[in-house]
Amino acid sequence: MVRRALVSVSDKTGLVPFARRLAALGVELLSTGGTQKALADAGVKVVSVGDYTQAPEILGGRVKTLHPRVHGGILYRRGLASDEADVKARDIPPIDLVVVNLYPFREAVAAGKPFAECVEEIDIGGPTMVRSAAKNSAHVGVIVDPADYEKVAAELEQTKALSEATRFYLMKKAFAHTASYDAAISEYLTARETPAAEPAHFPQTLAAVYTKVQDLRYGENPHQAGAFYRAGREPDEPTVAFAKVLQGKELSYNNLLDLEAALAGVKEFDGVAAAVVIKHNTPCGVAVGKTPGEAFARARECDPVSAFGGIVALNRPVDYAAAEELTNLFLECIIAPSYSDDARAALAVKKNLRLLEAPRLGEPRSAWKRRPEEQRELRSIPGGLLVMDRDLGSIRREDCKVMTKRAPTEEEWRDLLFAWKVVKHVKSNAIVFAKGDRTVAIGGGQTSRVESVKTAVMKAQLDVRGSSVGSDAFFPFKDGVEEIIKAGATAIIQPGGSMRDAEVVAAADAAGIAMVATGMRHFRH
Ligand code: 5GP
Repeated sequence: MVRRALVSVSDKTGLVPFARRLAALGVELLSTGGTQKALADAGVKVVSVGDYTQAPEILGGRVKTLHPRVHGGILYRRGLASDEADVKARDIPPIDLVVVNLYPFREAVAAGKPFAECVEEIDIGGPTMVRSAAKNSAHVGVIVDPADYEKVAAELEQTKALSEATRFYLMKKAFAHTASYDAAISEYLTARETPAAEPAHFPQTLAAVYTKVQDLRYGENPHQAGAFYRAGREPDEPTVAFAKVLQGKELSYNNLLDLEAALAGVKEFDGVAAAVVIKHNTPCGVAVGKTPGEAFARARECDPVSAFGGIVALNRPVDYAAAEELTNLFLECIIAPSYSDDARAALAVKKNLRLLEAPRLGEPRSAWKRRPEEQRELRSIPGGLLVMDRDLGSIRREDCKVMTKRAPTEEEWRDLLFAWKVVKHVKSNAIVFAKGDRTVAIGGGQTSRVESVKTAVMKAQLDVRGSSVGSDAFFPFKDGVEEIIKAGATAIIQPGGSMRDAEVVAAADAAGIAMVATGMRHFRH
């Protein structure tokens, strides 16, 4: 039975209609300054906490609800004789529902407010009430998320009370909310040597609270259990990063990893339709095309054997023509910004194919590079995490230094820059042969660079002669370059900086090929 509710919210979204529904059920509403005003202005009957406790808000709002009449009313164990005696003796009525969301501390930090103002945004009374109510969840409900107003109001309208399941659901959300709130404060503080100092690139503590999206059928292999968590408090729909699953079998651990690789690869391309085919977390074909269908068909041709069972990302809406191309091959997953209705229908025939819609894939590179989730990369080692900036590095032609006597031709420049975009996403050691806005051969994951060149050439289905080659790191010896020359490629892009650069350049010059240095390395281990 909910008789009395304490409502004290910073985020006033949905507040008034929810409060009206509570009032209509005969629930007495108690409220703090701003919330009370919002409700009174809307004509909802409400009692101020100050009147209720006979202790007005003091210290400019720092102390509003920190009072035994509030916390006693929330925390007493209904039906326990000693608690009942306590509240009776002190005339403390029950508070059966607490509706609180906290001062916008994160928003203050994000807005770049000075230290003292951020500290002022640390909520004290709010988390205290949330914790009191959550601790006493056997008797009390606690709402920290306006998204739960509907669920709670509907249940109260039906039964006048909250079920144990609902109270437990709310209890879990409440402690996740205060945990992530305190973690954000801790991250903010530990990033700074002094209150006025600039924040460190990596703080001493990481704030993220991870919430399970789903258990996975298994991990990388069937004898390993697996699960998927996302940073944040609440799992949304069945989503992967920012994508919606439209159809297909359940996503597996390896699917999720490969989807991320495919997304990262296709996001390299701005202003053109591009497709990336991933296998075992590394690209086996990347191409640009006049249409998404053409881009995919060209990408597939690079290594059609490997593309079987692949994961495909496209950066353009999939139309019917593209869907036809895509259904010609067994694929595990497709991710694209959207699908036309007839494309959806064509792809629906492939029951197991996982189809994902990621509207943000249509965004320009400059936009997604700024997204908070794109900034850091976390990997685990037993007992800990390795954290680094994501590899968002890219280069322009002007950033490159020509190392050889011969400079690349216009066509070679285009192929070199294409190869460089792709080589970043190939497992090291990575070698990419590109020609005409597509990969013609890819070699990666080998423990020596020359082996990666040989693998690429050995696997090549398309003509590598006249292509240009990207290498994710410098050539430690000239052997890799000699293999590239032997294959008939005519230009190379690589970071440069090897002890034997002179030898490597001499080999290139002897063959009359062009070589440019980027000064940037793209290892991917
Ligand atoms: P209002 O806008 O109603 O004046 O304030 C609502 C906010 O005050 C909520 O975010 C709530 O968590 C917070 N709050 C409630 N009681 C206290 C208190 O005693 N001290 C502090 N610092 N904040 C409180």
